[in-house]
Amino acid sequence: MRIAIYTLGCKVNQYETQAMERELLRRGHALAPFDGPADAYIVNTCTVTAVSDKKCRGLIRRARKNAPEAVVAVCGCYAQTAPEAVSALGVDLVSGSAGRMDFLDRLEGLLRQRTGQVVAVDEALKRRDFERLPAGGVSGRTRAMLKVEDGCANFCSYCVIPYARGPVRSLPLNEAAEEARRLAGEGYREIVLTGIEISSWGRDLRTGEALIDLVEAVCAAAPRCRIRLGSLEPRTITEDFCTRAARLPNLCPHFHLSMQSGCDATLKRMNRKYDTARFEQSVGLLRRHFREPAVTTDLIVGFPGETEEEFSRSLEFIRRMAFAAMHIFPYSRRPDTPAASMPDQLPNAVKEARAKEAAELAAQMERRYLGQWKRVEVLFEEEKDGLWWGHTTRYCRVGVKSMEPLHNQLRQVAVTGVEGSALLGELAPDGES
Ligand code: SF4
Repeated sequence: MRIAIYTLGCKVNQYETQAMERELLRRGHALAPFDGPADAYIVNTCTVTAVSDKKCRGLIRRARKNAPEAVVAVCGCYAQTAPEAVSALGVDLVSGSAGRMDFLDRLEGLLRQRTGQVVAVDEALKRRDFERLPAGGVSGRTRAMLKVEDGCANFCSYCVIPYARGPVRSLPLNEAAEEARRLAGEGYREIVLTGIEISSWGRDLRTGEALIDLVEAVCAAAPRCRIRLGSLEPRTITEDFCTRAARLPNLCPHFHLSMQSGCDATLKRMNRKYDTARFEQSVGLLRRHFREPAVTTDLIVGFPGETEEEFSRSLEFIRRMAFAAMHIFPYSRRPDTPAASMPDQLPNAVKEARAKEAAELAAQMERRYLGQWKRVEVLFEEEKDGLWWGHTTRYCRVGVKSMEPLHNQLRQVAVTGVEGSALLGELAPDGES
């Protein structure tokens, strides 16, 4: 059968789609583009913002309308938290954010014989086991994602993810190391450790091991691969973490520290478990232990009750942190979260204006960070618009002109300039970066 998949949302969702793709191919099906003819359409949904929900509904409607005879199956976080809304769109199968292989079994059942609508969504908060799925790559055989954790128990007041993904479950250390070894053997040159909240990795295993133990094991299992970490909570960055992490030659000095606000009063309302002083301490530790690490972050603007003064304080803090890059999100009201019923919800126009102001500051800081590099080592991924593109260990995007194919090669580049949020350069002879 020809099966088309559309994925919305984060790296974990992308990872899970890749696992489904691998499994579908293994079962003898073919993958098809989402906007062409297919026997079944899968939408792997996201619910992080109201905009994500809307996009999911639009895609499901489009699939249903364009292919009335095909099986339309929906899984992922939006289907998990709003199964009734998804069922009402006339789809054949509704599943959630777990049980991907059962989901494929059900899909195959419907392809063989159409019954009525099947809704099979579990209770996420009751999950206890980590679902093992085959790891795979996103850009040819260059970068693979390795999911080591699922779920979150932080219950930030604006976030619906703990309800969509359930409690923390971890892939045991020896299995993660084994997967990393396998991926390196398959030719991948970079492995990204992903999860919903990897800072909590290991908590459920009760072995006393923490994220840094996992990182050491994975770095040792795949010594010729770059190892990159997904988003971290500031509490993870301690003297012990930095001392041990700085000894790992293949760990990328790129740390995405989830911040969300640079104002203590706002952080408190968000139910984040740190203040700006602790965040600053984490950034300081990283800068002491690593040479020019790329410290990147997320920011939510226009959180309920965020005054002009609080927003200015947040911007001031961000300026001081001098981030290498930022992701900025206007606050999105998620049903059934504490923040949805907080007073002083801000109008969209205010949120948009604040997002724009923060984005201007982020662009200035990014230019400054990029502007310091003269020579970098790049892992090349793809050819696009006449240039070969790849990333440095610090996740700076770099483009060069080259007649020879560079896919999956690690090469030295002499930087010639900065364009937008990327570096441009020329291939240079090998040597120290
Ligand atoms: S840490 Fe907070 S923002 Fe992140 S997934 Fe958990 S609850 Fe959501």
